[in-house]
Amino acid sequence: MPAGAGPDPIGIFGGTFDPIHYGHLRLAQELATGLRLRQIRFIPAGHPPHRSEPCVSSLHRLEMARLAIAGNPSFALDDREISRPGPCYTVDTLTELRRELGPDQPLCLLMGADAFLGLTTWHRWQELFDLAHVAVAHRPGFPQVTWADGMPDVLRRELRQRLRENGHLLHRSAAGSIFAHTITPLDISATHIRNGLAAGHSPRYLLPDAVLDYIQSKGLYTVAAK
Ligand code: ATP
Repeated sequence: MPAGAGPDPIGIFGGTFDPIHYGHLRLAQELATGLRLRQIRFIPAGHPPHRSEPCVSSLHRLEMARLAIAGNPSFALDDREISRPGPCYTVDTLTELRRELGPDQPLCLLMGADAFLGLTTWHRWQELFDLAHVAVAHRPGFPQVTWADGMPDVLRRELRQRLRENGHLLHRSAAGSIFAHTITPLDISATHIRNGLAAGHSPRYLLPDAVLDYIQSKGLYTVAAK
């Protein structure tokens, strides 16, 4: 830990993970390295409020995430959103984590550029910055957040005030900054994987073999989503 810095930041990575794939895993890995995060907590969403219901059950998505991160000591699975009844809001999850980990622990919410561009639709979204930093990874097919056209003015204002070039600052405060990060561009999406499976195409090499074996053994995603 460098002089004057607090504990190393913990990354919080939520998603539907329906199913988890290498786009998710590289995002977590590259932000962990780039921002020197001591741990990444993967938190599968139970009932995501701002999108349609996931295609497979929470328990399948949780198990696939467990298989995907197995063997990486920096990655941990957190099932709190899946265990919570009703819609799960990130602001509630971060509030709980803040209570558990204390006011000085830097927390960093990880997301792709597509998720960040939709941030104003999230419940009490401005409070997220009181609870955590936000690290945004570039995602193929979406504009770089630092010059995105079409961003709502309120979000652009937050970005202008909070964007920091230097990831070291993440270690010196508990919350409140935004970091934009380039990662290896992988144009992989769970939608594409689900559609491929329903059409009988193998998603091999887009996700870990252990996840694919699980999908096949349980017969998941054989029917195209409506
Ligand atoms: P779907 O196609 O079902 O919408 P998805 O592939 O976008 O799923 P999610 O579980 O919705 O996956 O995404 C969780 C988080 O991971 C989001 O913040 C999203 O921006 C990010 N993410 C997903 N895939 C990638 C990718 N290929 N590159 C960068 N970020 C990604």
